[in-house]
Amino acid sequence: MTTFKHILAKIEEYDTIIIHRHMKPDPDALGSQLGLKAIIKTNFPEKKVLAPGYDEPTLTWLGHMDNIDSKDYLNALVIVTDTANRPRIDGSDYMRGQFLIKIDHHPNDDVYGDLVHVDTAASSSSEIIADFAITLQLKLSDEAARLLYAGIIGDTGRFLYPATSSKTFAIASELRNYHFDFAAVARQMDSFSLKIAKLQAYTLDNLEINENGAARLILTQDLMKKFNITDPETSAIVATPGKIDCVEVWAIFVEQPDGHYRVRLRSKSHSINDIAKRHAGGGHPLASGANSYSLKENEDIYQEIKDLLKN
Ligand code: AMP
Repeated sequence: MTTFKHILAKIEEYDTIIIHRHMKPDPDALGSQLGLKAIIKTNFPEKKVLAPGYDEPTLTWLGHMDNIDSKDYLNALVIVTDTANRPRIDGSDYMRGQFLIKIDHHPNDDVYGDLVHVDTAASSSSEIIADFAITLQLKLSDEAARLLYAGIIGDTGRFLYPATSSKTFAIASELRNYHFDFAAVARQMDSFSLKIAKLQAYTLDNLEINENGAARLILTQDLMKKFNITDPETSAIVATPGKIDCVEVWAIFVEQPDGHYRVRLRSKSHSINDIAKRHAGGGHPLASGANSYSLKENEDIYQEIKDLLKN
């Protein structure tokens, strides 16, 4: 039995299905979580399907999270999408269900769950969920197609990043057959508020770039207060340094309220997930995240990027 069939058999077996995704959600986390919820609700309307987690204010156009009671986990199937490692799962109750499934496209560094479907060749977890529904000929609603399409364009930067495959296009093409406001999704993903526009200008103006294409930007809490932006809103500028032709690998250090730094690492060529793993993080070869606990560690991370490009 393929893992897709195995996952479907488990969905058929349980009356309650709870779908988690990672903290600090992005469109792929929400698209895969809520897309899978919509698919299950369309094909098995009698089942109780819940999607818990933080209701990220900048992404409510995708959907809202469900309120959940710890009693809901009794005899429930729990599915976690788009989350490589357990500490990043939004909602610690995920382990209180009866059976746990992991569905993801990140490197499988933390193998958790009773059943694992990890496809690192997939552009996004939303692509995997759409593939699951299409392969098993499950009914897709217009809303599921909208969510999954948004997740795919989120994680591929609208088909720009190398993980975009011919299969990604085939699946996106299939989703485009459904009736959702395609232009509205595209606009949502391509527009930003005035305060983000100002942060974009700051990013371009203050990015430090060395002669080999290493670059860094530091966003302190004071600066974020000045621009009135929250940590999740920094995602709007993560791709910006890559638009500069001489930038090859870059790090954005985002200071957190407790003083430590979330480090968002991106690369056009060299693999940077080993650097992330050395600093309490992980991720894809060209898009990773880490944590730094001092200004010295910030310097060490930037030095590792510079060394990577020097060699
Ligand atoms: P971000 O910069 O947060 O968008 O993260 C980029 C990629 O790195 C995402 O695919 C995340 O799954 C991964 N990532 C970010 N932070 C961590 C972390 N602390 N541990 C493992 N993977 C991470």
